Amino acid sequence: MPIQSREIRLASRPEGEPTLDNFSFATVEVPDPTPGEVLVRNLYMSVDPYMRGRMNDAKSYVPPFQIGMPLEGGAVGKVVASQDDKLPVGCLVFSNLGWREAFVAPASRLQPIDASVASPSTFLGILGVTGLTAWVGLFRIADLKAGETVFVSGGAGAVGIAACQFAKLHGCRVIASAGSAEKVAFLKDELGVDYAFNYRAGEPLGYLRKAAHEGIHVYFDNTSGPQLEAALYVLRDHGRVAMCGGIAGYNTPVPGPRNLMLAIAKRLRLEGFIVVDHFGDQPAFLAEAVPALKSGKLINRETVVNGLDAAPTAFLDLLHPGASNFGKMIVKLAD
Ligand code: NAP
Repeated sequence: MPIQSREIRLASRPEGEPTLDNFSFATVEVPDPTPGEVLVRNLYMSVDPYMRGRMNDAKSYVPPFQIGMPLEGGAVGKVVASQDDKLPVGCLVFSNLGWREAFVAPASRLQPIDASVASPSTFLGILGVTGLTAWVGLFRIADLKAGETVFVSGGAGAVGIAACQFAKLHGCRVIASAGSAEKVAFLKDELGVDYAFNYRAGEPLGYLRKAAHEGIHVYFDNTSGPQLEAALYVLRDHGRVAMCGGIAGYNTPVPGPRNLMLAIAKRLRLEGFIVVDHFGDQPAFLAEAVPALKSGKLINRETVVNGLDAAPTAFLDLLHPGASNFGKMIVKLAD
């Protein structure tokens, strides 16, 4: 029997900061699965800063969202009807078909999840693409080594909490920034970072000079903007920057760092990366992350909001300094 599913569509393209008017809701009929397909009811969906770029009509590494069409994004769901032996009813799967309650898709497009390892939403956060992004940025891009000092901006966000923790697990000294006093306390008290500061309460450069008298070896950049400029001043010779994200400029572009020439004098390496190019590293990442999570050496922190109606607000919140999320922002859609 076909079922009904609510979904969220792109109603219009934002200019600058998006608003709720850029989203619309629709109810569609989801057909029964045909051979090779499964019907999935989403339990959790992810909202991510990169989705802001997909709201623009611009060529990038992922195609833009289309006006009038449902949005897409990471989701974990349960198979509720199956015409494929590999994904029986009850199986948990990861898909890129979030922003909707249910869907039918070929089983081959879905990734089964081992529910015995961790709670389902963890696969959208620390054990998912988010955790992999942090791990790849630190160890494949920036080549971070034990004993080095790393600065992580956006330290209390989804990628940030993973980056701070993996760096600590590898024996590094970690400096992290976040947008509120509560997040700074969380970074110090719960994640054990060595020095944390609120980038909105003072000049990042002042904090960094205080935190790292001998400079930093690596900067894990989630923000770009003023924090990138400050990091360039305190990077040591031959320092490395993993350019992961530039959230300070997602709504309105920010100027590039005025001191970029330091990259020449200090022989710095600044390298951008996109995690999808590194899915081959997933086994190595999970081999480290799963035991660390099970033993309690790695913690998963998430902020959960309830129901599809809450998804646009949760997404818009992420794009503000001092956003409400600690760790991964998750939207719970069903039990
Ligand atoms: P997130 O950190 O959980 O959420 C975004 C955070 O950004 C907010 O919580 C807010 O925290 C901070 N923020 C908002 N506006 C800001 C501004 N103007 N200046 C500085 N900070 C601001 O998001 P995430 O999923 O972990 O993503 C972090 C970054 O990694 C994003 O830039 C994202 O695009 C990028 N990313 C890249 C890849 C890749 O493959 N390269 C993959 C995933 C994510 P505060 O309270 O600290 O302000």
